[in-house]
Amino acid sequence: MKITDVKSFPVWAGQRNLFVLKIESDEGYYGWGEAGVSGRELAVQGAVSHFREFLIGKDPMRIGALWQEMYRGQYFEGGRVLTGAISAIDIALHDLVARKLGVPVYQLLGGKQRDYVPCFATSTGPLAGPEVVEDAKRLFAQGWTVIRFGPGHPDTGGDETLFEPRESIALTAEWITKVREALGPRAVLGIDYHHRLSVAEAASFCQMLPPHTLDFLEEPIRDESPEAYVALRSMTDIPFATGEEISSKWHFLPYIERGLTNFARVDICNVGGFTEAKKVAGWCEAHYIDLMPHNPLGPICTAASIQLAAAVPNFDRLEDRAQQGLVYSTEMFPVQPMLEGDRYPVPTGPGLGVEFNEEMAGKPFEFWEAPHLHRRDGSYTNW
Ligand SMILES: [Mg+2]
Repeated sequence: MKITDVKSFPVWAGQRNLFVLKIESDEGYYGWGEAGVSGRELAVQGAVSHFREFLIGKDPMRIGALWQEMYRGQYFEGGRVLTGAISAIDIALHDLVARKLGVPVYQLLGGKQRDYVPCFATSTGPLAGPEVVEDAKRLFAQGWTVIRFGPGHPDTGGDETLFEPRESIALTAEWITKVREALGPRAVLGIDYHHRLSVAEAASFCQMLPPHTLDFLEEPIRDESPEAYVALRSMTDIPFATGEEISSKWHFLPYIERGLTNFARVDICNVGGFTEAKKVAGWCEAHYIDLMPHNPLGPICTAASIQLAAAVPNFDRLEDRAQQGLVYSTEMFPVQPMLEGDRYPVPTGPGLGVEFNEEMAGKPFEFWEAPHLHRRDGSYTNW
């Protein structure tokens, strides 16, 4: 079997752009992949067009060897754009090979270890008032036992791009404490601070909370510096959920080995596809760390994350946006994973269990920038 084409589809999918990829073979088998690196899809498309040059004619069954060739082939190894492209290609190769063998992708990963993939919910509003307590009670009553929140912020005077960390942490601490009081100890609660804080701000935030208010704090600070996480680790005992931006096993290494991530937010569309995600999962298993996969993209990312979650022993919960109303049209994705309550059933059909309608590929890509936030003094601050 030989690869005959690698096609890129950066498309506007209604609420966001998606980077969809297709690999075709001379035997008629094909596979779908998706890349992360949201907001820089055209850069990923450029990387894919380089890889396409040497992938055509190669045997798609040699997935691990092709991963090595893609990662190490350009001498300047790694980086998020390149591993985003490699992720999409690696996921598509797994889909293609599993279709040829007539098995779900998890059979290529050691077989399934669970029948369902439980998910966590994300509360729709920021932690900034009584509405969030009501929303948390609603989700908990619906059966969502793991609920994540976004940071709150006091009145910004209508300026959606204003973010002042000290104002946010005081308000967020106040309202997450009220959520915990309302739901009791059985709820599992987390906050995603979306790497907006400094070490000192994150430490202050944690110290404002009564014991067992939070079960996990997601991305309190940026991930370039493991040393910064070492410093923060010494100032709080709240578990960290980190890793969604991490783009290789080497990048994950200090976080796993030094106890700096407690829930590994591996993103299969950023880290390097199944080939790399399985290695990260194994490394986590050795350190008794469970995966909490990052899954904010489209149905191909969800389908791939379900297959990965099915095949690893150390899995906690999958992020899911369908619960928040981020549902993709069946016109664009005629076959896609369907949430049942707070979980996805592990599929039994060949491949990933997802189909993209190429007719929709003409849907124009729309330039989108992540919000650029500023502080009251006018300086830039992270979204
Ligand atoms: Mg996050």
